[in-house]
Amino acid sequence: MSESTTLHERVVIIGSGPAGWTAAIYSARAEMNPFVIEGGISRTMIPGGQLMFTTEVENYPGFKHGVDGQTLMLDMKEQALRFGTRVLTEDVVEIDPAQYPFRLVTTGGTEVFADAVIVATGANAKWIGLANEERLAQSGGGVSACAVCDGALPHFRNQVLAVVGGGDTAMEDALYLTKFAKEVVIVHRRDELRASKIMAERALANEKITFAWNSVVTEVFGDDVITGLRLQDTVTGEERELEVGGLFVAIGHEPNTGFLQDVVDLKDNGYVKTPIPWRTQTSVPGIFAAGDVMDDYYRQAVTAAGTGCMAALDAERWLAHGGVDAHPGEVAAGH
Ligand SMILES: Cc1cc2nc3c(=O)[nH]c(=O)nc-3n(C[C@H](O)[C@H](O)[C@H](O)COP(=O)(O)OP(=O)(O)OC[C@H]3O[C@@H](n4cnc5c(N)ncnc54)[C@H](O)[C@@H]3O)c2cc1C
Repeated sequence: MSESTTLHERVVIIGSGPAGWTAAIYSARAEMNPFVIEGGISRTMIPGGQLMFTTEVENYPGFKHGVDGQTLMLDMKEQALRFGTRVLTEDVVEIDPAQYPFRLVTTGGTEVFADAVIVATGANAKWIGLANEERLAQSGGGVSACAVCDGALPHFRNQVLAVVGGGDTAMEDALYLTKFAKEVVIVHRRDELRASKIMAERALANEKITFAWNSVVTEVFGDDVITGLRLQDTVTGEERELEVGGLFVAIGHEPNTGFLQDVVDLKDNGYVKTPIPWRTQTSVPGIFAAGDVMDDYYRQAVTAAGTGCMAALDAERWLAHGGVDAHPGEVAAGH
């Protein structure tokens, strides 16, 4: 689209992971003619979301033999398109919550006015940043950022698995992986854990879990599949090699909410607040949030799809009940 394009849409959905496409399917079938701004292509994000980077999804209901992540996402998109969803392959860089209809601006300079907005921009797992780590994560070569998603896959069974991190997520991942692994080694850059006392105690007491204290991963070995790690001692600088059959990186997630600062209320960790339990409305009536961008706890495709459905229904009902006209002042007042 040209720089001067201006659109007015009833519902704009930002993001194209399971949350965004599910919101689109529901909105389209409710004849709300949704417009999806699916995100641009960058090194860490592509349309289709996080599942585009994974080979095997075994826990999404309806696929008894599992499904390739890219196939799942492209099929969700096709399903949304079938009901008339329209798509723009750009990022949203700005939302003005004080103007109604809400004014959105994209990377390409398109100005979109929206009666309701559903934010479904996800959260990116943080990686260590090593070249072979990224390559093996994308090829299904035994590197993952999601133990609950991938831990049960056959190639991780009875292996020595490394978990990198020292917080609650790392402890949870390590404990979960003990169900399948021969041994789990937690690699942590300090000599004490950041995790809560109870999670740390559970991990420390588990006989399948060992610790590589004061250690960072400096290299990931393996061509088709991971074979080991090079660890460096953060105190002495000494290096050693550790043979592993899998690497789980659990050093946190970064919600894609940079463009939402001063738009809706965010939690301290940057995730979108949805103040009413079991509702997807944000602090600004008419702006809804779905998927990992508002969920720092479950972070699964099926929960993202579930909240995408909820956001579409919430937006539809909010508009049907008069939208901003029924609640004058709320939007302009913001949060
Ligand atoms: C390696 C890996 C494997 C996984 N495996 C599984 C699994 O097996 N099963 C499972 O249930 N879950 C799995 N997950 C988790 C699952 O991928 C997420 O829970 C799910 O994708 C979240 O969906 P979402 O729609 O909220 O966000 P995402 O899938 O993250 O999608 C967000 C979308 O928003 C777009 N976007 C971001 N910013 C903007 C912007 N400013 N403007 C426009 N668009 C934007 C992005 O490009 C992206 O398309 C895995 C995750 C990872 C990292």
